[in-house]
This record gives sequence, C-alpha cells and structure tokens, in this order.
Amino acid sequence: MIKVIIAGFKGKMGSTAMQMVQEDADLILSALVDPFATEKEIDGVPVFTAKEDMVGFEADVWVDFTTPKFAYENTRFALENGWAPVVGTTGFTPEEIDELVALSAQKKLGGLIAPNFAIGAILLMEFAAKAAKYFPNLEIIELHHDKKKDAPSGTAIKTAELISKVRASQIQGAADEEELIAGARGAEFDGFRIHSVRLPGLVAHQEVIFGAQGEGVTIRHDSYDRVSFMSGVNLGIKEVVKREQLVYGLEHLL
Ligand code: NAP
Repeated sequence: MIKVIIAGFKGKMGSTAMQMVQEDADLILSALVDPFATEKEIDGVPVFTAKEDMVGFEADVWVDFTTPKFAYENTRFALENGWAPVVGTTGFTPEEIDELVALSAQKKLGGLIAPNFAIGAILLMEFAAKAAKYFPNLEIIELHHDKKKDAPSGTAIKTAELISKVRASQIQGAADEEELIAGARGAEFDGFRIHSVRLPGLVAHQEVIFGAQGEGVTIRHDSYDRVSFMSGVNLGIKEVVKREQLVYGLEHLL
C-alpha cells in the first residue's frame, strides 16, 4: 500500500487526483494540503494548511497540483521529508529541475515532474520530435482554459525542448518580418514560435504545425476532461516508489 499526500486538493486537478487515489485499493490517501482549507479533516484524512506542520509525517508520495509559484519549494520540501514527489504543477525552470534531480539522487528518492500526464500528449511530443527532423519549419499552438496562470504551458516548453534536440537550429519567417502589434508572432524558442490561447471551455490542447514546400503536417492532442491525466498520475505514484532518482517527463516511466 502506498501512502499518498495531495497538495492542492481543492483545485481542479488536485480534486480529480484525490478521487482517483480514494478509488484505488493499492493507494491510501494519507493527508491533504491547501493553504486556504478550513476543514481539519475530510473522510478521516487530516488536512494541513501549512506544509511546515507536516515535518516527520509518515507517507510515501507527495502529489502536487498547486501553482507555479509554490511547486519548486513544495517539491524540495517533499524530497527533504522523504516523500517521493509526483508533480503535475508546471512552471519549473531547467535549473530548478536539475537541482531537484540532484537532491533526489542524494536522498535516493524517486520522483516525477510531468508537464503532462496524458498518454496522448506524450505521444504528441514524441511524434512532433520525429517530424521535426524532416520538417524543421514549425509552430506550436497550445490552448488552455482561461484560469491557467503560466504561459506557455509546460507541455509546450517540453515539446519545444524535445524538438530542439533533433531539429537543425534555424530562424523561421522572413528576415525582414515586422510585428505591427507586439507579440503577434508569439514567443520565440530556438527560432520557432509558440502561441498560447486562453479561453473558457477549453481544458488542455496542443497542436504542432509543420510546413514545407507544397505540404504540411499537423499533430494535435486534446484533453477534454481532467480524467485524461489520471492514469498517468496513478502510474507515476506506483513507479516513483521503486526508483532512486527524480525524472522529468512521464515518458521516462513508461
Ligand atoms: P487550480 O484549480 O487553480 O488548483 C490549484 C490549487 O492549489 C488551488 O486550490 C490552490 O488554492 C492550491 N494551492 C495554491 N498554493 C498552494 C500551496 N502552496 N499548497 C497547496 N495548495 C496550494 O489549478 P489546476 O487546474 O488544478 O492546475 C494546477 C497545476 O497543475 C497548474 O500548474 C497546471 O498547469 C497543472 N496541470 C498539470 C497537468 C499535467 O498533466 N501535468 C494537467 C493540468 C494542469 P487557491 O485557489 O486557494 O490559491
């Protein structure tokens, strides 16, 4: 039985993860964390408002669906307290990820930072990286609900990083291109562009559009419901307890 803490359990992702853990006979929901919670416990599970009160708490895994502002600090705290982190919160810098990987290795604890837990999104990233070898001209368009705090999405950044590893670096677009309204061409990453769309009604979606002489390829993934992330979170929880180092990306555990 794996004892799980959920940070951000009142949020959209955290509450879905809480239900998933409660429904899995191999997992025990051990504690819930949210700075604004008013409950002292829910269904017999203790609720903490300050993570500092949890030092010494008995658990195996810290699931984090909080906000980009707290994710690094929370993940560090989990590792320091012996809980393997499974983090869906986005917004980490590459330096922060490197530091957390090093800390996990020092503590001999597994862990996962996954910008996207949907299997379809992992496939999209893989297919996009494959296509970029042959189609080096591309643009990424990510589309999310209008409450999302960070832009571009963690998935778009991870996709861009994977593409950059295989794509011959080049600046796209006309050399004398001019933006008549600032930001019109989106964010620049290694010479290609990333666009962020925020609209009510959306969950999490991404397209990678490739263009070449006389042809185009579009790869798209849609998460219509947050349930799409839960098999990945479940797999993450069950895998990190067997490992001794944190990984960045669910694909490393598949
Ligand atoms: P959300 O609904 O705003 O949930 C975040 C929750 O965390 C809120 O209830 C928030 O409380 C709480 N919170 C804030 N600071 C906290 C802290 N220090 N400790 C504990 N809880 C804290 O957002 P969401 O849609 O669930 O998304 C959460 C994160 O997951 C975002 O970074 C999002 O990009 C990411 N995400 C990842 C995936 C993936 O597959 N990896 C998929 C979807 C979303 P207040 O509202 O009271 O501040």
